[in-house]
Amino acid sequence: MQIFKTKSDLSSSLSSLADSLIGFVPTMGALHNGHLELLRQAKKQCSVVVCSIFVNPTQFSNKEDINSYPNTLSDDITKLEKINCDVLYVPDVSDLYTIDEKTKHFNLNGLDNVMEGKFRKGHFDGVATIIEKFFNIIKPHKAYFGQKDLQQILVVKSLTKQLNLPIEIVSVPTIRKENGLAMSSRNKLLSPKHLETASMLYKSLEFCKANKGKFSITNLKNCIKIQFSEQLEVDLEYLEFVDANNLQNISFFQENNNAICIAAYLGGVRLIDNIIF
Ligand code: AMP
Repeated sequence: MQIFKTKSDLSSSLSSLADSLIGFVPTMGALHNGHLELLRQAKKQCSVVVCSIFVNPTQFSNKEDINSYPNTLSDDITKLEKINCDVLYVPDVSDLYTIDEKTKHFNLNGLDNVMEGKFRKGHFDGVATIIEKFFNIIKPHKAYFGQKDLQQILVVKSLTKQLNLPIEIVSVPTIRKENGLAMSSRNKLLSPKHLETASMLYKSLEFCKANKGKFSITNLKNCIKIQFSEQLEVDLEYLEFVDANNLQNISFFQENNNAICIAAYLGGVRLIDNIIF
């Protein structure tokens, strides 16, 4: 695997691969099986796979959150080599941002006003800012994102369309632990007890799906809120029933494309999850 620390080295290496189908998997590192699934899909569909590891400062509004973000670079490199990732781009902040650079503002068609966008102000402008930079440097044919960050996928699709970039955005299903907990780099910050309790996010989503014909959305929402309020160490931030195509709230279940999205804090660690059915 070739490792590049600067965009100039990376792009000059990639420019010699004119006939290749380039697949790109952006990550913030602390790689787990969810990330590896994105890379496996990319390996199947592309001739050259580029992974980036970069904890993007402009998408964090909370300093503590970025400072506590896990860093396991040497393990990550071992994992990437094992699945034959071709290229790793692991830049410093200064390679991608000038000192006084401000986050760009994007028109994300309202996708950034709800859920993650509502509770993490400016988050998606930060995501769009870095993804635009990555796409311009790497010029991938396909880019891979996890369904776990459903809102992020819709934002990236909207951005790609607005910028008229010829990049296919591929959505990869969420990889979970045996107890249903979605794999996440932030799980590394949970205590063993909280790792077990955290499975209630997914279990709540599955409960709502299983009971969609029996209870209204309002009743299901109330029921989950009560369950969470009974768990002292868990703080439910939001639980939204939306259309998976545009994230608009739904009052009744549709034939398909129903998404239920959840965010909660456990011992100070913020977790998100969703299901689509
Ligand atoms: P992150 O490093 O958290 O920014 O994630 C990098 C990419 O991996 C994003 O597209 C995520 O949606 C995706 N991802 C994270 N966790 C999972 C998971 N459990 N299953 C599938 N994809 C995931």
